[in-house]
Amino acid sequence: MHIDLDAVAANWAALDQLSGPNTQTAAVIKADGYGLGAGRVARRLAENGVRRFFVAVAEEGIAVREALGPGPAICVFSGHMDGDTELLDQLAMTPMLNSIEQLTRHLEALPGHRFGVQLDTGMNRLGMEPAEWAAVSDLVLQANPDLIMSHLACADEPDHPQNAEQLAAFRRMTDGLNVRRSLSATGGILLGKDYHFDLTRPGVGLYGGEPFVNATPVIRLSLPVVQTRDLEPGETVGYSATFVADKPTRIATVSGGYADGLLRSQSGKGQLFAGDIACPIAGRVSMDLISVDVTHLNEVPDYLDIVCPAQGVDDVAGHAGTIGYEILTSLGARYDRTYVGGKA
Ligand SMILES: *Cc1c(COP(=O)(O)O)cnc(C)c1O
Repeated sequence: MHIDLDAVAANWAALDQLSGPNTQTAAVIKADGYGLGAGRVARRLAENGVRRFFVAVAEEGIAVREALGPGPAICVFSGHMDGDTELLDQLAMTPMLNSIEQLTRHLEALPGHRFGVQLDTGMNRLGMEPAEWAAVSDLVLQANPDLIMSHLACADEPDHPQNAEQLAAFRRMTDGLNVRRSLSATGGILLGKDYHFDLTRPGVGLYGGEPFVNATPVIRLSLPVVQTRDLEPGETVGYSATFVADKPTRIATVSGGYADGLLRSQSGKGQLFAGDIACPIAGRVSMDLISVDVTHLNEVPDYLDIVCPAQGVDDVAGHAGTIGYEILTSLGARYDRTYVGGKA
């Protein structure tokens, strides 16, 4: 797996440009930097001047703090969970408090420690609801929060009415407060400046995924060919014999399978590439191996690509019946990850 950290930096710069001059652009590196390596990604982005990073849970911040050193802010979406106090304190991480329970825990356990607040504007996943916020906002504001944020449920669909509804709800809950605000991830950045506020939080767009369709590709995933064989008409391939050769057929067996995040739902639908020539997956994806129909190639190369310029993560996701986010974050531990750009 080749990971181009300079492309991640270029995508950040492009999203930063879209976010406008008065908006700070952070970076979301949860789930180990969407599977690409949170420490490496964070360090490369810090070279670009990124000063604020978001992780999902406090434990994810350990590798990020180690990679970044003491300066940059590391914010935690899940807030201040029971048992997190020591970690938040030692690593100087900023929890985004999601409930009155978390707020109480935080102000009691770590008075004076930096925090933000997450508000629920309609996604009904994380954050304080309008009535809760009304009850505690004075108390919160006295404690000097670093950021107030919310999250859009439908930002990847620009015409969805919930975008404007959530924007209005966010404004109702936060207009006139002297605190920095953040509403948008990748999709929200693309909705335009009304959605940008003081800080944006792109994730998937940094890694080359939709909805940032103009992203620079970040990963190439090449699978070594273990073996090649020729089939007579009528012979079958793989578990449950779902592929049946209807003519003399050459099959390449490549190393990589669903244990590596190459989802089994691509069976009989997905394809790999020899350069720019598509080669269909033949039969079932198995745990460690994929069979590929290479009958039409003059020569079978040493590697076939599953993520490459001809087929991005969202194309793979289309064959697998999922989204690029799930493909990225499923890419497993067995790959030899090599990085272009940035420092080890
Ligand atoms: C994951 C996440 C993001 C980043 O979203 P992308 O769609 O990957 O840009 C931002 N904010 C919150 C709250 C998230 O959970």
